[in-house]
Amino acid sequence: MFGKTKQKSELRFDVVNKDWVVVAEGRGKRPEDFKKKKQEEVVDNMPCAFCDYFCSEKFRDKNFAVVPNKFPAFFLQKNKETKSENALFQKIPSNGFHEVVVFNDHSKQLWDFSFNEWEELLGIYQQRYIDLSKEDFVNYVSVFHNHGKMAGASLIHPHSQIMGIPFFDKNISSPLNSSKEFFKEKSQCLFCAINRAEKSAKTRIIFENSNFLAMCPFASKVNFEIVISPKNHLPYFEKISEQEKSDLAQIFQIVLAKINKGLGSPDYNFYLKTSPCDDREYPFFHWHFTIMPRISVWAGFELGTGIEIITMPPEKAADYLKKIKI
Ligand SMILES: [Zn+2]
Ligand SMILES: [Zn+2]
Repeated sequence: MFGKTKQKSELRFDVVNKDWVVVAEGRGKRPEDFKKKKQEEVVDNMPCAFCDYFCSEKFRDKNFAVVPNKFPAFFLQKNKETKSENALFQKIPSNGFHEVVVFNDHSKQLWDFSFNEWEELLGIYQQRYIDLSKEDFVNYVSVFHNHGKMAGASLIHPHSQIMGIPFFDKNISSPLNSSKEFFKEKSQCLFCAINRAEKSAKTRIIFENSNFLAMCPFASKVNFEIVISPKNHLPYFEKISEQEKSDLAQIFQIVLAKINKGLGSPDYNFYLKTSPCDDREYPFFHWHFTIMPRISVWAGFELGTGIEIITMPPEKAADYLKKIKI
């Protein structure tokens, strides 16, 4: 199925920073629509387009509906080539998939999810990953969740997103390269080494079960950043076992409930980093989820230098969340 012709999306290469940006015109509005409005909150639109899915026969009795994003950043395009303007301004069509996993309750947030709902959601992430990664032109599958205006969510109705994309840039290639180099030098996985060091330090661990650790990373990029990392060495998220999925559901449920109670229902993002699906092998990588509460914004220094300033040491953040009773 091809995207509607009025939608346009392309990838542009940034020759200075050597990374890519997506210009998805179909998602945008008129330039005037970007004027700062007095009311900046996420609008609780009723009737809600996401609620409508659950009136249909197909999804009526379901907990989740997986549907194509109506304003995709990536979609199947008829034109496989986009003419670049010149050597400095290169662009290609943003071919791919952009799906939404819509939850059936308009006002129930992830921190209210039962264990079974978490398990089902993670199963959907896994299955959609497997399906999208089968396409030749999909080289990376991104799974993420935005909650709240500060986290970029435009609709209040809870939903996760999954994108199958043709490329990945330095946010993925940088951890891939670090773990590859570490593996070459020390014959062990960087993330397994970090997990062992965190286990012995104890100070940044919030919660653990048989298969996962939840911790505030030593060099957290935002206040209360949390990483959920498998204890076993697992390079490919799509190969997660039933037992691992069950333990991941438990740790997500507990950690998000702690964030909700301890930080007053903040806006947040979480996302998966896993090995690419570009037919290469990544035995040195170790998938993990990162949860980023959006309780402060990047200012000029962060934007200008890329160096984040945080005000809550990860040790204190972890200790605080560890002690939150849920
Ligand atoms: Zn709704
Ligand atoms: Zn590992």
